[in-house]
Amino acid sequence: MTEAILFDLDDTLVVEEPAAAAAFLATAHVAARRYPVDPAELARTARTRARDLWRAGPAHAYGEDTIGMSSWEALWCRWEGDTAEVRACREWAAGYRAQAWRAALAEHHIVDPALAELLGERFGIERRLRHEAFADARPALDALRRTHALALVTNGASCLQREKLAGCGLTETDFDAVVISGDLGTAKPDAAIFAHALDRLGVTAADAVMVGDSFERDIRGAHAAGIRGIWLNRDGAQPAPEPNGHLEIAALTELAPLIRGSTSG
Ligand SMILES: [Mg+2]
Repeated sequence: MTEAILFDLDDTLVVEEPAAAAAFLATAHVAARRYPVDPAELARTARTRARDLWRAGPAHAYGEDTIGMSSWEALWCRWEGDTAEVRACREWAAGYRAQAWRAALAEHHIVDPALAELLGERFGIERRLRHEAFADARPALDALRRTHALALVTNGASCLQREKLAGCGLTETDFDAVVISGDLGTAKPDAAIFAHALDRLGVTAADAVMVGDSFERDIRGAHAAGIRGIWLNRDGAQPAPEPNGHLEIAALTELAPLIRGSTSG
């Protein structure tokens, strides 16, 4: 019987990638008001240059390989914390924010270091204006909260994931356990982070399900930990991967009836 539900955060409960894309574009518009540059082009370039710098930089090994962060999240993360890894990321990211925009502007033949600094800070402001939970997130949590133990299992820096949660009007008390890769030093799809969540809830893998939008991290990862996956494929946008015992839903409104239906008999 399903006793516990583990939820992914980014692009499952809260809008993440589209919010980042919109923040890149809004930030590029600031430059386009000063220079003849297409904001959509500049936004695309900034995103690419940010990714290149992130991959080549010293924060990547910890930020992406260990805790599963993306290059664009690193652009607005405050990197709060006192571990050596987080401190190193914080120091590096201070320059990374402007450097990404400086490189992007240069590709469009604009040399303006002051503007790059401004855009580097502006991106964080624009992203923070775009905290948004999916409309079906709160009703799904409320419907299941009464009958099931709930955990959040998310990849990313601890401060950033908590900031997203609070910014979107969800709270840590909506969950019986909040499990963040940045707090653990291990990320999805590693089975260890799922095992940690089960431990915190006091349930076995057979009694839990994992709900998430990433087939690789959430569904394959959960499967490796012995947990059935419920793949959130919003609007059927992604092609069907190989079967691995998972269920598929197109919206979180399907979740409570699915869980009740699959455990009632
Ligand atoms: Mg996700």
